[in-house]
Parts: sequence; structure tokens; C-alpha cells
Amino acid sequence: MRGLLVLAAVFVAVFGKETFHGHQVLRITAVNEVQIKLLKELSELGHLQLDFWREPIHESLPIDVRVPFESLQPVRSFLAYNEIYYNVMIEDLQDLLDVELREMMRSRAFEPRSTDDYDYTNYHTLDEIYSFIDMLVKENPKLVSKVVIGKSYEGRPLNVLKFSTGDNHPGIWIDTGIHSREWITQASGTWFAKKIATDYGRDSALTAILDKYDIFLEIVTNPDGYDYTHKTNRMWRKTRKPNPESDCVGVDPNRNWGTGFGGGGSSGNPCSETYRGPYVNSESEVKAIVDFVGSHGNLKAFVSIHSYSQMLLYPYGDTSTPCKDQAELHELAKKAITDLKSLYGTSYTYGSIYDTIYQASGTTVDWTYDQDIKYSYTFELRDTGIYGFLLPADQIIATAQETWLALMTIMEHTKNNPY
Ligand SMILES: [Zn+2]
Repeated sequence: MRGLLVLAAVFVAVFGKETFHGHQVLRITAVNEVQIKLLKELSELGHLQLDFWREPIHESLPIDVRVPFESLQPVRSFLAYNEIYYNVMIEDLQDLLDVELREMMRSRAFEPRSTDDYDYTNYHTLDEIYSFIDMLVKENPKLVSKVVIGKSYEGRPLNVLKFSTGDNHPGIWIDTGIHSREWITQASGTWFAKKIATDYGRDSALTAILDKYDIFLEIVTNPDGYDYTHKTNRMWRKTRKPNPESDCVGVDPNRNWGTGFGGGGSSGNPCSETYRGPYVNSESEVKAIVDFVGSHGNLKAFVSIHSYSQMLLYPYGDTSTPCKDQAELHELAKKAITDLKSLYGTSYTYGSIYDTIYQASGTTVDWTYDQDIKYSYTFELRDTGIYGFLLPADQIIATAQETWLALMTIMEHTKNNPY
């Protein structure tokens, strides 16, 4: 097995990008605890190289799994033998990747000279997004600046856009792309940045927020992973830090935070997509935010954006015990998703992470909430699994627009309810 993995790594290093010909994404519907247990056992079989897009934790949510071509037959047999129902969500993953790349090439032909020229209808590389950030700062020197909060494991700057109209304002934090393959999030984050710069002084609601609060926006929160999704493996989720004593690379940066670290819904296995890491804040991408939150000392809202599933979630993820602001956070989430839906009819579910998705320990917003940042939320953007992480680029603008309405609702509520 180890030999095979090394061989695969060498293959990628020599021939470049990993391909996904014949890989299928199956949606599995477990109907009872026994089936969930069987699926967990299946997920532990490393030689099948299964990639769970949604983990088997309990039977209320369908399970999505990417199955390599070579593993399709054994997985189908396993499911049939155990009478577990499934259907094929994505017939051939490489077909979708080919379309995505073709779209990107279309936009690549043209290098934007300003953020007005930037192609918001397409996905972009890390370099393109970092250039966008610099352009936006240059075009709006009075409103926008770039704060480098640290370096990634591979030495890339961790760039945060700061939108500010005065000193000593409390802050609102938004991050996208902590899981690198969730491309709709970095693309939406880029759109948000332009939207904030454009709307200040024009839109009265946003202007009122920025008159009192600074907004911090980290668009590419996991730059090593993001670069890797473009150059080597589109399906990469974790950080890129090697794990000693394992051939598997990377830590799940949404299981690496201090609240509930090591609990259920995170893994101690470096090969797992939910590997929590060797210790709290072991990932520099996480530690940089932790240090920023501490040194700022006055963040009032913290929104961490993921995909996919169409959910708006609040703490806790590591326990079923309701957080002390549950009633208010629940009401506000309901209002935010109602506003989101008003634009294109996109339906979201909402609730605590634990109740709505499944137990997840060591997550970003559990920790930020415990730092007394009351308005701590996680989004899971489009879709609900038709395309999963490969949301077509022609949905970027609509996704960003509708999400922006929900963000505005959360930010306005934060402004109107100082604490
Ligand atoms: Zn995620």
C-alpha cells in the first residue's frame, strides 16, 4: 500500500496533474445505524482510495463519496451485498474537470488591468487572486489595505483585505477557502471584496456598517492547498504540511482549533480528510488567524465560508449542548437564509453544526465563539451535491450575490446589537 502511494506521488511529480477519468461520485442513503457502521468500515479501507465528500456519521444526511475507477466494482458489490441504496451523482469526474479547465483557459487569454476588468464569472489561480488583491488596494487606498497575518507552511503570504474608514473600530471577519477544493468560496470572496469597495459610499446599509466596523476578508485562507488544487490535484482539501511517520500529507484546518480539539468528528489518522493534526493550532494557516484574533481583541462577528450543502451553521460542532446565545443565533440564521433565498430561491437549512450536519470537533467557529465572538457562523455554499465541489463557473455570480445578502443581514444585526 505504502509502495503504491509513493508510486502515485512519483507519477504526479513526473507527469504533473492527477486525472480523474472514470471516477464517480456516489450518493449513498443509509437507513439505519448498522448501515452507517458498515460505511464507516468501508471508509477505513485505505486501499480503495475513497474520498468522502460527505462523511458517514448519521443517517439523516446522504453520504457522498468519490470512488476511483478501480474501486467502483468492489464498492458497488459491497453496497449491493449489504442492501445499501445509492445512486450515481457524477458519472465521470474528469468530464466536469475538463469543462472547468476549458472555461478557465477562456479567461486566461486576457490579463485584467483593473478590478473592473477581472472576470468574476470564472475561477482563478492563486497568483491571479493575489494580483486582484493588490489591484483592489491600489485602486481604493483610502478604504482598503492588505494585512499579511503570517505565512503558509510553504512560505506564501497569508493576505487579508482590511476595509476600514477609521481607527479603533471593532472588526468583522470573513474567510473563504480554508478547504482548498471549495473553489466557489474563494471566487465568492473575490466578488465580496469588489462589492464592498464598490458599495461603500453608495449603498447606505453597507456604508453604515463600515462607518462603525472594519471588515477583514481572507480570500485564500489555505494558499498552499489552493495552489495544489490548480497544479496537481483538484480534489485537495487539507493543508500541505507533511506528516512525520506517514506518507499522507496535510491536516484538516477546520479540525485544528482549540475548542473540542481531538473530539468526535475528527480523525487521528494523517491519511484521513478530517485529520486534526498533531496538536492544537499546528497549522500556520490556523495559528495566524488565532494570533490575529488575539491581537485585534475586538472582533464582533466571525464568518467562515465553506461549500457545499447549502447550510448556515452556528456553534457548537463538538457537542450537542446548545451554546448560550442559541436562540439569538438561530433567529438571525433564519433571517439570513430567508434573505438569501429571496434572490434566486436557493434553499438553505440552518442550525448548530452538531444538529445540522454532524459532530465536528476543533472547528473554526466553535473556537471563535469561545473567544466571545458571539456572531460566529459557518456557511456551506451551493450546491446540494449535483456538482458538489465542482460547481460550474456560471453559478459563481449568483452564489456570491445571494450569499452577500445573508452576510449583510449578519453584519447589520451585529452593528445594531453591540455587546
Ligand atoms: Zn469545507
